[in-house]
Amino acid sequence: MRLDEDLRLKVLEKVGIYSNRFSISEPKILFTSKEVLEMPKEITQGRRTSAYKYLGVSYLQHNLVFINMRRIPDEKTLENTIVHELIHMRFPYLSHGKRFNKLVRQGISGKTFTQYKKRK
Ligand SMILES: [Zn+2]
Repeated sequence: MRLDEDLRLKVLEKVGIYSNRFSISEPKILFTSKEVLEMPKEITQGRRTSAYKYLGVSYLQHNLVFINMRRIPDEKTLENTIVHELIHMRFPYLSHGKRFNKLVRQGISGKTFTQYKKRK
C-alpha cells in the first residue's frame, strides 16, 4: 500500500483500537524497513536486515511492531497483520498455530481480552 501521512494515521488509529481491546499498552509502530534499520541494533537484533521479508514483525521485549507497508497489498491484509502482531504482544508465550490463528480471527471480529498476567 502507498504509505502517506493519512495511511500512517489510519494504521495508528487501528493499533490504538486493538490495543485497547487486547488490554495491552500501545506499541510503537515502524512502517518501513528503513525505520527498522534506523533503530538501535540491540532493539531489533534477530529481525533486522531480514525484517523486509515479512508482513510484520513484533519486537516483544521493546513493545515495538514493524508493519511492512510495502509488502501489504490491501486493507484486509493490513487489518490481519495489525491484529496478528498485537496478538503476539498480548499472548507472548504463544507461537504460531491453530490456537494463535483462532485468536487472530476472534480479534478481527471484535473480541476483547483481559490484561496478560505472567504465571508464577
Ligand atoms: Zn507472527
